[in-house]
Amino acid sequence: MWVYRLKGTAEALEALLPELFERGARGVWEREGEVWAYFPAPLDLPFGGVWEEVPEEDWLEAWRRDLRPALAPPFVVLAPWHAWEGPEIPLVIEPGMAFGTGHHETTRLALRALARHLRPGEKVLDLGTGSGILAIAAEKLGGKALGVDIDPTVLPQAEANAQRNGVRPRFLEGSLEAALPQGPFDLLVANLYAELHAELAPRYAEALAPGGRALLTGILKERAPGVREALAGAGFRPLEEEAEGEWVLLAYGR
Ligand code: SAM
Repeated sequence: MWVYRLKGTAEALEALLPELFERGARGVWEREGEVWAYFPAPLDLPFGGVWEEVPEEDWLEAWRRDLRPALAPPFVVLAPWHAWEGPEIPLVIEPGMAFGTGHHETTRLALRALARHLRPGEKVLDLGTGSGILAIAAEKLGGKALGVDIDPTVLPQAEANAQRNGVRPRFLEGSLEAALPQGPFDLLVANLYAELHAELAPRYAEALAPGGRALLTGILKERAPGVREALAGAGFRPLEEEAEGEWVLLAYGR
């Protein structure tokens, strides 16, 4: 592993961080007046930093040490090596390639919304399950969850995470078509993106039982109007909205 060392704080260099990730950085950490960006191999970067080769374990250890529990009340998302004493409901998620470690605003918005909307015993569809985190949270709240994802590589990770948490949601490869025969659902939770929600809005209505609710996130604030319009067009009524940073969650009922 190689580290690209830049003079300055993470705050001062904030504008550069997305560029470093776009060019393949695996992680970026602040170290005593410097920012260290880890890459699998050195490359030509125009930002005035210096390259240094570091042992693989150093990088992994720094990454594990810096990964913090993520609070999304009533949940806390923990890596398997975290200890937690608080009253929150723990969700133990192995950080891997699948999205959904609780460190993104949209996952936290969805977790909090699940806790507000899910009643025990309800059938939940987690569309785009990734690490399985939302299906696992739904089960912990007493729901019966099905998680689907078009990416088959995430499903073994979702299964393993469910086992870690002692719950048994079902996971299937695919999208709404795979889930529809298992419906109708009382609650749909989906952390995707605005344009896809707008396109799928009429199918969301098909997936939900009368009185069902859709909790939709992955939506940048400025893209929310298109999703609201599509949901209204599909016969949904607005229930509530919550924002974190530049992201929003829309809750609609049918
Ligand atoms: N649910 C997790 C969370 O909230 O943290 C993961 C969300 S991640 C942003 C989106 C996931 O949706 C990815 O795992 C991706 O493979 C999956 N996905 C993207 N398009 C999809 C589609 N049309 N149908 C089902 N899953 C999809």
